[in-house]
Amino acid sequence: MPLDPPSRTALAERIKFYNELGIYDFYRRSETTTREEMPLQIIPVENAAAPLQLIREDIGDCTRCRLHKQGRKQIVFGVGDPDADLMFIGEAPGADEDEQGEPFVGRAGQLLTNMIKAMGLRREDVYIANIIKCRPPANRTPERDECETCSPFLMRQIDAVKPKVIVALGAVAARTLLAINAPMSEFRGHWYDFRGTKLAVTYHPAFLLRDPRQKKETWKDLQMVMKELALAMPSRAPE
Ligand code: URA
Repeated sequence: MPLDPPSRTALAERIKFYNELGIYDFYRRSETTTREEMPLQIIPVENAAAPLQLIREDIGDCTRCRLHKQGRKQIVFGVGDPDADLMFIGEAPGADEDEQGEPFVGRAGQLLTNMIKAMGLRREDVYIANIIKCRPPANRTPERDECETCSPFLMRQIDAVKPKVIVALGAVAARTLLAINAPMSEFRGHWYDFRGTKLAVTYHPAFLLRDPRQKKETWKDLQMVMKELALAMPSRAPE
């Protein structure tokens, strides 16, 4: 049955309000059997996909820092489940990521994917992003001003995904997020409160490719995360 004009206006206002909150999907609650009898009730379905899309649109073809004219091919936004409980944050895209537009797809990315699998999860179950979204020339460490310019978008991604746990990969990610200038040895092994979300620090997979002996230590960090997320522990440590 078509709605009368005042109800139609009220409904449009209500939908606009939800859209402004970043809620775009709705469903009808059905307690009656026929479509005609069904009262029109709007129940928002919260999902971070739409807010993430808005953040991506706000970034646009970014020219906010020098990296846009230093050889980056594309912006590497983030990938994974918009409603993930677990979020990994790395440093910056490398050559493979710049080519494919997705974080952690090169050799370090394959190792990260294996770490995620060792936790009993799939890559698509988590959300993966970096402190900065453009590849620095020759993979140099991001400059402080580049991190400061780019990280507000990462903060918005974190706010949209609302993970239960964040894992900072490596010292650059840890130092930028926590604003603490400490060595990895101090960062690892305990929880930080990051704007209300639990944050742990572990080695960057690129470092583990150079020093595979530290994989055992990384596994300890990941077990701490698994415990927090109540994930089942495998009986054997991964290779
Ligand atoms: N290293 C990072 O920190 N991020 C990537 O996306 C790839 C490599």
